[in-house]
Amino acid sequence: MTTQDIIRLEDTFQIPTYKKFPLALVRGEGRFVWDADGKRYLDFYGGHCVTLLGHCPQPVVKAVQEQVANLIFYSNVAYSPVRAHAARRLAEMAPKGLGHVFFCNSGTEANETALKLARKHTGKSGIVAMEGDFHGRTLGSLATTWTQKYRAPYADVLPETHFVPFGDIDALKAVFEQNDNIAAVLIEPIQSMAGITTAPDTYFQAMRTLCDEHGVVLIFDEVQTGVGRTGTFSIAESFGMTPDLITLAKSLGSGVPVGAVLVADAIADGVEYGDQGTTFGGGMLAMAAVTATLEMIQKEQLMARAPVIFEQIMDAVGAQVQAVRGKGCLIGLELDGPAAPVLTALREAGVLAGSSGEPNVIRLMPPLTTTDDEIMLFGNCFAEALRQATSEQAA
Ligand code: PLP
Repeated sequence: MTTQDIIRLEDTFQIPTYKKFPLALVRGEGRFVWDADGKRYLDFYGGHCVTLLGHCPQPVVKAVQEQVANLIFYSNVAYSPVRAHAARRLAEMAPKGLGHVFFCNSGTEANETALKLARKHTGKSGIVAMEGDFHGRTLGSLATTWTQKYRAPYADVLPETHFVPFGDIDALKAVFEQNDNIAAVLIEPIQSMAGITTAPDTYFQAMRTLCDEHGVVLIFDEVQTGVGRTGTFSIAESFGMTPDLITLAKSLGSGVPVGAVLVADAIADGVEYGDQGTTFGGGMLAMAAVTATLEMIQKEQLMARAPVIFEQIMDAVGAQVQAVRGKGCLIGLELDGPAAPVLTALREAGVLAGSSGEPNVIRLMPPLTTTDDEIMLFGNCFAEALRQATSEQAA
C-alpha cells in the first residue's frame, strides 16, 4: 500500500478527531522512522514525546518479545514477577519519599488517579490548576486542562477547579486564602503544548512551602518531563523540592502504553482496597517494557545526555531563532515568524518536529540517545527549512 492508500483507508474508518502528518509510518530504528514509500525521517517529535530512547531500543524489544511468549497478560488479581520488578525499579529511581506506585495505561489516567488520591487523602475536593496546562482528555483531566476548546464542554465535571496564572505564586496564595476546600495543586512543570513555558526554580520551591502550610497535595504532571527527559528522573529534583504525587506516561514504556503515579509514602499509607483500579494497568508487556527502559537509562547513564543535547541544539540553531526554551530533551524554538511553514519544510527535508499552542514555537523532543551527527543533520535541515519557509512567505 502506498502512503495515499493508507491515508484514504484510515480516514474512511477512523472518526476524525486527530490532525495528522500526511504520512504513514511503517518502521522505526533509533532516531529515524520510515514511511510507506520508503522515505526516512529524523524523528524529533517521537510520537508525541514518547520515544525517549529512540525507536525500537533493543533491550526493550528483547524484553517484550520474551514476555509475549511467556504470558501476555494477567490483571492485578494475581501477583507477577515482572510487575514486582518494574515497581521496585521505578520506586528506586523515583525521588526519595515517593516509594510507591500505581500503574495504569496512559497519562490522563495517571492524572485522574492522582486527583482521586489527593481528594481521598485530604477529604477535600477543590483543585488548583495553571493557565496553559494540559492534563489529558478524560473528563477529570479535561476539567483541569486550560485550553477552552477542550475544557469548556466538560468544565462542570470538577466545578471547584481554580485556574491561576502559571508562575504567579501570589495568585496561588490568594486561592488558598480564599478557599478552605483545596485538595490539590496540579501543575505541568514545563507546559509543553502551551509552547515550552516554565518558571524559575524558586516558584516551585515556594509552591511546595505554600502547599505544606495549607495541607494541600502537590501533584506534578510529569507525563512529558519525567523519566529523565530533562536530565533528572523527575524535574522536581532539579528544582530542589519534592511533590507528593508525580504522574508519568509517554517515555516510561518506550512506546508500549503505560502510565504510573508515584505516590508519597504518607499518602500511600492511607490507600485502601478499591480506591482505584484498572484491568490493564500493570500488564506484563508494559511492565517488561518499563523495566527494560529504566535499566537502559541507568546502564547507559542517558539522563546525563539531556543537558548536552539541549546545548548542542542551541548551538545548531544559533542566532536563527529568537530563543531556545525548555530543558534537556524538551525544547522549544521560538521563531520570529510562524512555525507552521517551517515545520512543513522540515518534514519535506526529512525531519519530524511539533507545533505548539504558540504559533511561533517549534517543539523538539529528541531521544536521549541522539548522536552528535544527528544533531548536525537537524541543524542543516533546520537552516534549509527556515530559508525555504522565509522565501516562500516573501514570494
Ligand atoms: N499530561 C501531559 C503533560 C501531556 O502532555 C499529556 C498528553 O499529551 C497528558 C497528560 C495525557 O496523556 P495521554 O495522552 O497518555 O492520556
